[in-house]
Amino acid sequence: MTTLVTGASGYVGAHVAWHLQALGERVVGLDAWLNRTQNPLPEGALAVHGDVGDAELVAQLAARHRFDQVVHCAGLIQVGESVRHPDRYWDTNLVAAKRLLDTLRAAGLSPRVVFSSTAAVYGEPSRLPLDEDHPRLPQSPYGASKLAFEALLADYDQAYGLRSVSLRYFNACGKGPYPGVCERHEPETHLVPLAIDAALGRRGPLAVFGADWPTPDGTCVRDYVHVTDLAEVHHRALAYLRDGGPSARINVGTGHGHSVREVLAAVGRVTGRSVPHHDAPRREGDVAVLVAGVTRARSALGWEARRTDLDAIVRDALEGRALLP
Ligand code: UDP
Repeated sequence: MTTLVTGASGYVGAHVAWHLQALGERVVGLDAWLNRTQNPLPEGALAVHGDVGDAELVAQLAARHRFDQVVHCAGLIQVGESVRHPDRYWDTNLVAAKRLLDTLRAAGLSPRVVFSSTAAVYGEPSRLPLDEDHPRLPQSPYGASKLAFEALLADYDQAYGLRSVSLRYFNACGKGPYPGVCERHEPETHLVPLAIDAALGRRGPLAVFGADWPTPDGTCVRDYVHVTDLAEVHHRALAYLRDGGPSARINVGTGHGHSVREVLAAVGRVTGRSVPHHDAPRREGDVAVLVAGVTRARSALGWEARRTDLDAIVRDALEGRALLP
C-alpha cells in the first residue's frame, strides 16, 4: 500500500506522513518547499521536491509507485493573502489539484483521496456548532477554492468512481512527537505560535483582532484541534475509504471553543510570562465563532479529538517554537 502525501513538508502533511509511516504504510511525500525551512520526512519515506501541478513529475511518480491512496495537503492557507491574490489561491488550490487527479487518472490510477479542507468553507455561522450540512458561504478566495475542490471531488466520484473524504479542519495547533516536525509557516499568521513568540519576546506585542465581537469576552472563539489528533483522523479516513465507505465531508475539531483571550491566558500559564498584546481592529474575513459539530467524525470514522487540554496544546506548540531559528 503506497500513499502519496502532498504538502508533506508542511505542518499537517508532515505529521500525517510520520503517522502513516509509523503505522507501517509506505509514504511518498511531494512538496514544493514554499517555506524557507522544511519539515523532515521519516526514514524510509521518499521525499520528492516538486509541484502537484507538474504533470510530467506526477506521471513519473504514478508509474513508479502506483499510488493506492492520496492525502492531499498541499495548498495555500492564508485567508488575508487570498483576498489580495485570489489568482494564486485558485491556481494552487483548484487548478493544480485538479491536474494532480487528472494525471493520476491518466496513469490508470483511481486512488482513494483524503483532502485537507477547512472550516472556512462555511462562512458566517447561522447555527452552532457547525454541522457539515450547514450552508457553505465562504468569505474568502481561500475558503471558496477549497469548497470548489470539494465539489470537483463529488463530481469525480459520480463520474469516475473516485472516492474521497474531505476533512474540514478547524484550528490546527500543537506539535506531534516527531523529531524536527513543527509549525513552520512563513509568514506565521496563526494565533498560538504568534502568542508564544510574543510571550518569549521573539516578536512585538500581539494584535488582538477585534475586542467587540458578540462573544463572552469580545474576542473571537475558535476550535483548537491538536495536530496529532489531526494526523490520526487522516489515517481513520483512509481506513474508512479502504473499507468501502462512501465519499464524505467531515469536520475535524474538538466541539469546544476558546476565545483569543483564553488562548493568551493559556500561553501565559505555560510560558510563565504574560503575552504582550493590544486590541486591534477586526481582521478581514474573520467571523465571531467557529466550533465544529463532531457527530459525523464520531459516527463515520470512530474518531474524536483526545488532546483537548489547551495548556497541553500550548506546551507542545512551545516545544515546536524552540526548533525554529
Ligand atoms: N488572531 C489574533 N491575532 C493574531 C492572529 C490571530 O487576534 O495575530 C485571532 C484571529 O482573529 C482568530 C483567531 O485568533 O479569531 C485564530 O486565528 P488564526 O489565524 O490562528 O486561525 P483562523 O481562525 O484564521 O483559521
